[in-house]
Amino acid sequence: MQILNGKEAAQAIKDSLKIKVAQLASQGKEVPHLAAILVGNNGASETYVAAKVKACEEVGFKSTLIRAEENITAQKLLETIRELNSDPDVDGILVQLPLPKHISEDEVINAIDPGKDVDGFHPSNVGRMVLGQSTFVPATPYGIMLLLEHYKVETKGKHAVVIGRSNIVGRPMSILLSGNSNPGNCTVTLCHSHTPNLKELCLEADIIVAALGRAEFVTAHMVKDGAVVIDVGITRVEDATKKSGFKLKGDVAYDEVAPKCSFITPVPGGVGPMTIAALMKNTFKSCAQKHYEEAEGE
Ligand code: NAP
Repeated sequence: MQILNGKEAAQAIKDSLKIKVAQLASQGKEVPHLAAILVGNNGASETYVAAKVKACEEVGFKSTLIRAEENITAQKLLETIRELNSDPDVDGILVQLPLPKHISEDEVINAIDPGKDVDGFHPSNVGRMVLGQSTFVPATPYGIMLLLEHYKVETKGKHAVVIGRSNIVGRPMSILLSGNSNPGNCTVTLCHSHTPNLKELCLEADIIVAALGRAEFVTAHMVKDGAVVIDVGITRVEDATKKSGFKLKGDVAYDEVAPKCSFITPVPGGVGPMTIAALMKNTFKSCAQKHYEEAEGE
């Protein structure tokens, strides 16, 4: 069993970006600039945005964090997005999800300039991804693809079972794994809460991507020997022994599943850091597309 160490792979990506950004800066060129909007003060969202801002600092990007009150109107939020869209200094815009109930996430995502949509959620970027065209691929599935690539995990001809069909993880993951690419070329089964025979499907899987948000849902009796298991889930579980009062659990019962696997991601330290590294790559790509020739293939 080999651990797919997302921390290590993400560091390699960030180190390589750091060198490129330093080169741009030394030539007096624009460096990438990510603008993040955080609405309200959801604890998990605060943590994710802070990690993204920190990663920007680490690689030498500019970053701007725009905080909005929980009760901000949709109109005001859309106005902020339009300002960022037209600011030539901003390369990437992300709105941390989830948003308060009174704001339509679709409306907000649709308002972001697709050329600055580094989260890859805008319909035109999703369409490009489905068609296999160059685009901003949503950061979590993109990060998983980069992790598989980093560890040279063979995916061609494999049966992948993706659990969860959200627009930000499961569905794009299923599209990427089924693409004519490397990693890719899998036969994919996409499962959700109405899938009746999940255990049987998982037992047939060479690759399982668990993205349902239920702590330790995937147990050893659902995994065949030698499978590759990618755990996307992050659930806060109460733990009085921790200063924060909680610990993070993945969607996979790691201790019992890991011995059966050829490769497995830990939580934390697996998919999470890769998501941030992928976002950094998308932001660099946006800047490069705008200012420089070498954008393609980033
Ligand atoms: P989501 O929008 O809540 O989607 C969950 C999906 O799982 C839905 O499609 C749902 O099916 C399916 N599902 C729920 N219970 C199920 C069950 N018992 N059997 C089969 N399918 C089931 O969640 P998400 O945003 O995709 O996130 C999933 C998890 O990944 C969460 O824990 C989240 O915190 C984590 N996450 C981690 C990262 C990272 O960087 N590591 C990034 C994003 C998300 P229906 O569609 O039928 O409801």
